[in-house]
Amino acid sequence: MIYLDYSATTPVSYDVLESYIRATKDFMGNPNSIHSLGVKSKALMHSAIKQISDIFSVLESEITFTSGATMSNNLALIGTALANMKYGNHILVSKLEHPSIYSICKYLENIGFEIGYIDNTSDGLVDFDKLKKQIRNDTILVSVCAVNSEMGVRQPLKMIRQIIKKENPHTFLHSDMTQALGKVAINLHDVDLASMTAHKIYGPKGIGLFYKNSRVPFTPLLYGSGSVNMYNPGTPPVPLIVAFSKAIRLATVDLDKRENFIKRLNEKIVGELKKYDGIKINQTKICIPHILNISFDHIKAETFLHALEEYEIYLSTNTACSSGEVSTAVMAVYDDPKRASSTLRISLSYLTTTDEVNKFLACFRLVYEKLSLLKKEDKE
Ligand code: PLP
Repeated sequence: MIYLDYSATTPVSYDVLESYIRATKDFMGNPNSIHSLGVKSKALMHSAIKQISDIFSVLESEITFTSGATMSNNLALIGTALANMKYGNHILVSKLEHPSIYSICKYLENIGFEIGYIDNTSDGLVDFDKLKKQIRNDTILVSVCAVNSEMGVRQPLKMIRQIIKKENPHTFLHSDMTQALGKVAINLHDVDLASMTAHKIYGPKGIGLFYKNSRVPFTPLLYGSGSVNMYNPGTPPVPLIVAFSKAIRLATVDLDKRENFIKRLNEKIVGELKKYDGIKINQTKICIPHILNISFDHIKAETFLHALEEYEIYLSTNTACSSGEVSTAVMAVYDDPKRASSTLRISLSYLTTTDEVNKFLACFRLVYEKLSLLKKEDKE
């Protein structure tokens, strides 16, 4: 098998799985229980949370564990919007967000918030001048994805936050950092709120992280008992928290070394795919190399994906969550509906080998030639 869909999800690393199993077997007490088994679980959980808060230099109380980035995005946008209604109802989002953000915005619009969309330059970069003009007195929240999931466009969050705060110090910046974590350096002090998930960084599925700076007014969306996980009450999933903590520690080392390796693989693929007349490379100078997006002129990406599957090669059309639809990111960057209608996302990891890339390119050629021929015969 050749797995080139690391931005959809990643295999759980052995060390992470081991820490999950150990925490499950040896720490069965409910961390909310006051007896010794509970106290033991609570201590383990707190040491895992402390490791995460140390890595990101934030307070432990600023971290809430969720079921994944979708839930984190929901808490971030809805909880902040509701708490800040008295200051305004205007929310801005970039045109390169994950589909979950747009679904949440639709809900917010239905309950009376006004959603604006931030334009980007031809590189996919948030247009700073336009953003400046779009910030109003009643703008309470801006959401900008740190790294876009379809094309890998990376935004300079620190600069974006400076622009926002200069225009309106009461506007908060949320960033969906799901595709940035473990790929590039992230700094939670560049934002006010952030979303992440474990399953994109070789951690287990079913746990995410919601960061909220303590000064951001917030309305909880869920109510219950248990004091640790402030905005997601109930029994904290200790083994998942321990595993996530381990995954974060493993994913945030050697970033430059891993990125340089992935960049070479990316350049190799781009070098080969550029030779095809019927393919466009959807890449700008601010895309990270881990995500490579291409468009087909005359082949349906979904057909191509399934044809590659016959060689046990796995990748995505646009994002795993919006497969089959027009690529929002390609549309936002190139403003070309045809180009955005048949896209393939190749996502790479430091686990990807040169041999896998070579085999992928060879199979790609076979599939491309076969499908191009079929298309030609169809026309005749
Ligand atoms: N945000 C981004 C940028 C993503 O890439 C994804 C997953 O594809 C999500 C959110 C959703 O994450 P989860 O599956 O943890 O809910």
